[in-house]
Amino acid sequence: MGKQLVLVGAGHAHLTTISAIRSLVKRGHTVTVIAPSDHHYYSGMAPGMLSGTYRPQEIRFNVHKLTTGRGGQFIKGKATRINPAQQEVLLEDGQRVPYDVVSFNVGSVIPSGKMELGDGSVFTVKPIERIMEGRTAILDLWDQHDSGKPLELAVVGGGPAGVEMAGALWRLSRDNRIQSRITLLTGSELLGLLPRRLQAKVRRSLGKRGIHIREGSRVASIGSHRVILEDGSTIPADITLLATGVIPSRLFTESGLPTAVDGGLLVNNYLQSVEYPQIFGGGDCVTLQEGPLARVGVYAVRENPVLLTNLAAAMEEKPFQRFDPGSSEFLLILNMGDGSAVFRKGEWIFKGKPAFWIKDFIDRRFMRKFQLSGELAEPLSGELDEET
Ligand SMILES: Cc1cc2nc3c(=O)[nH]c(=O)nc-3n(C[C@H](O)[C@H](O)[C@H](O)COP(=O)(O)OP(=O)(O)OC[C@H]3O[C@@H](n4cnc5c(N)ncnc54)[C@H](O)[C@@H]3O)c2cc1C
Repeated sequence: MGKQLVLVGAGHAHLTTISAIRSLVKRGHTVTVIAPSDHHYYSGMAPGMLSGTYRPQEIRFNVHKLTTGRGGQFIKGKATRINPAQQEVLLEDGQRVPYDVVSFNVGSVIPSGKMELGDGSVFTVKPIERIMEGRTAILDLWDQHDSGKPLELAVVGGGPAGVEMAGALWRLSRDNRIQSRITLLTGSELLGLLPRRLQAKVRRSLGKRGIHIREGSRVASIGSHRVILEDGSTIPADITLLATGVIPSRLFTESGLPTAVDGGLLVNNYLQSVEYPQIFGGGDCVTLQEGPLARVGVYAVRENPVLLTNLAAAMEEKPFQRFDPGSSEFLLILNMGDGSAVFRKGEWIFKGKPAFWIKDFIDRRFMRKFQLSGELAEPLSGELDEET
């Protein structure tokens, strides 16, 4: 008998399952996708979208059309609670969605910790739509800005996302003739988890473009055109981008499901909840019981085929496939915003235009795989035509 499969969140780890809905439906199952928006944005190209290298349409998947075009049901909404005893997901608007098997790919959020975030001048780098709003805010502000005075742009967070954001702000400023002063604030060392050789290349690249890097600067509050550091000093900031790492969605702790200390849904090697066999998950919102993985899209993408196999297996009582995370020395390419990138794979580190070309090639190839609903020709608002 057919089963009811529910996919909560249409993130990077669910794309293969969503593309395979037709085959699941043919086998008698019903598939429902719950997502807050018609589109899912690919974070790897988000810095390029901030800088203007890519249009928003180039970096997003129309997950609504991907679902309904293959015979699935799409519910625009946000899950707020899971009730494993009743096998149902509760949504923000009060709907209850029953499931036989459910999978979560609801991603992560940017932690602001004890930081007080003031007026509307602060934009987190997740969800990616917020970066788009930040770009619009910068362009609008420049339009009304006092000429002769530079726009003060700050990035909080000295990890890979913060570095890419700073580089992208430089490009956005250059291409739009915005006179800006860009400051990258990092609580500890810049790219502290990465090799010194790579750090040096990034420092040189940002430094020679006048991007000011302040290390060991812990932020206490942001607002009213300034960032206040814990040591009491202030940095002028008309717009601030917050890239302070990621923490998993709170959905699982709030639902009382078994989670890791960081709040990620605790899953076994089959990407299955350690307590509820009907619950699965992938991407930033889960933590492997065997050992946590870095919260990077690389793993979410690698989880795709295993999730499809195991969700079908759970509905059809077939054997599960183990998830092998592969090497932890994954490829990292930082888009520096000036047409170059910094490439790192193990000990191999270099910077230059070819590194950006490699990133661009890999990213566009990934997009082509799941942009199956005419995304590139959509208007920006992405209003849906009647169902295709
Ligand atoms: C600026 C930036 C650049 C990055 N670049 C790279 C890179 O180059 N390479 C790399 O490997 N990693 C990169 N990362 C990390 C990468 O973003 C994450 O690891 C990746 O997005 C994880 O994918 P995900 O599908 O788990 O989560 P997400 O991409 O966050 O997707 C989660 C989805 O779930 C939806 N959702 C959220 N809450 C709910 C809810 N309650 N109910 C229903 N749906 C919900 C969201 O709308 C979203 O579509 C970058 C991160 C940032 C911020």
